[in-house]
Amino acid sequence: MEKGAVCIIGAGISGLTCARTLADRGYRVTVFEKSRGVGGRMSTRRTDDGVQFDHGAPYFTVQGERFHSQVKHWISDGVVQPWEAKIVELYQGRADQEGRRVERYVAVPGMNGICRHLARGLDVRFNTRVAPPARDGDTWLVRDEGGAELGRFATVLISAPAPQSTALLKAAPLLVKRSERVRMAPSWAVMAAFREPLGLAYDAAFIHASPLTWIAKNSGKPGRPPSPETWVLQATPAWTGEQLEKEADWVTDRLLAAFRVSTGCGSGETSFSAAHLWRHAVPPEPHPGPFMLDEKRRIGACGDWCGGPRVEGAFLSGALLAERLCELA
Ligand SMILES: Cc1cc2nc3c(=O)[nH]c(=O)nc-3n(C[C@H](O)[C@H](O)[C@H](O)COP(=O)(O)OP(=O)(O)OC[C@H]3O[C@@H](n4cnc5c(N)ncnc54)[C@H](O)[C@@H]3O)c2cc1C
Repeated sequence: MEKGAVCIIGAGISGLTCARTLADRGYRVTVFEKSRGVGGRMSTRRTDDGVQFDHGAPYFTVQGERFHSQVKHWISDGVVQPWEAKIVELYQGRADQEGRRVERYVAVPGMNGICRHLARGLDVRFNTRVAPPARDGDTWLVRDEGGAELGRFATVLISAPAPQSTALLKAAPLLVKRSERVRMAPSWAVMAAFREPLGLAYDAAFIHASPLTWIAKNSGKPGRPPSPETWVLQATPAWTGEQLEKEADWVTDRLLAAFRVSTGCGSGETSFSAAHLWRHAVPPEPHPGPFMLDEKRRIGACGDWCGGPRVEGAFLSGALLAERLCELA
């Protein structure tokens, strides 16, 4: 069944949910992704020695019924597991048990597991950085940033973070007016593997009075190799904002020092450490609607910056955009 060719830019959870939903309903979908794998901000980074880190979203939670039912499917498909972690609040060495009771989930064997699952059987083209699509008669002409033609499509859907979507939506000024209002906060993340177990009595912590906001023992999550002991440290948006142009090694040193102060773990020699800057980590105030769509010209956008931040919001945004498109057909 041919329902017109759809181009989706971005292979994070919103773009792949949108692509999966449309492909399951008979659309011919091509996904273009600038990096070399799926996941976006739910990526899993692997070192040359095969040590892995969830350096973006460390876990996700579930609020609504629709996402709850999807997560149940992913659990039975073996790509998600509950994360029953011991989580504390850390005030410069003093640890208090987390006050709330929250159910947390992780994808397995890494956070990119859900996106890999969604991408199965889809036409996903990696290492392809798409330039702003141009209108050509009744179709969208899509090129990469080097000017090479990637194809002509009846519909273009963009699932990049808000500032990148704004640039890609150049040919849809009405949508740009809305997307350009959405700011995204940055976050430095440090990945560290330790030579010896640290012996900390918790799996993760919210941090106070520190450049760090969150730390998690990656190797303690379900489905991950327990050794070597690995941690991911996440800086606050405010600290990151002040250190945006710093070298990654400088950031690694500072955040490891902050980790040692907060955990009281003075020694702890690392066998690997690296920093990653998420320039567009989370949208503090997302656009109120769950997606954007110019129904006449068939160009739209989805992502966590539409409707609701975080993994659940991104999933819903991609699913609802695809469903709206199906209603139009
Ligand atoms: C450090 C950090 C911690 C987080 N913690 C949590 C948490 O605890 N819980 C939670 O639920 N969420 C968390 N999040 C947020 C969560 O990761 C996001 O809400 C979700 O992954 C967003 O998915 P998305 O599909 O909207 O966007 P993305 O995952 O950003 O996907 C967009 C994709 O578009 C691609 N792209 C962009 N421009 C182009 C182009 N020109 N051409 C081709 N491809 C392009 C990108 O490479 C990317 O793969 C966190 C995020 C970060 C960074």
